[in-house]
Amino acid sequence: MKSKLKACTACGGQIAKSATTCPHCGKSSTSVARIGLVIILTLLVVWVASRYFTSYQSDNAELDRMEQQIRNGH
Ligand SMILES: [Zn+2]
Repeated sequence: MKSKLKACTACGGQIAKSATTCPHCGKSSTSVARIGLVIILTLLVVWVASRYFTSYQSDNAELDRMEQQIRNGH
């Protein structure tokens, strides 16, 4: 027999597996973990993208500086 219930992580009460919030205590169940995971992944992507963008910009600035040095020095 398949159970459609699971125990609430907050109060231990039986809640439907499809339920996003516990009817006993009102706490969100798995959706919180899922949202947290999505937020962490989003932050990770933003962090990697900003790091890439920053390094690309500094590389360009470095090239500009080298170019100016070559122009001024020679
Ligand atoms: Zn609960």
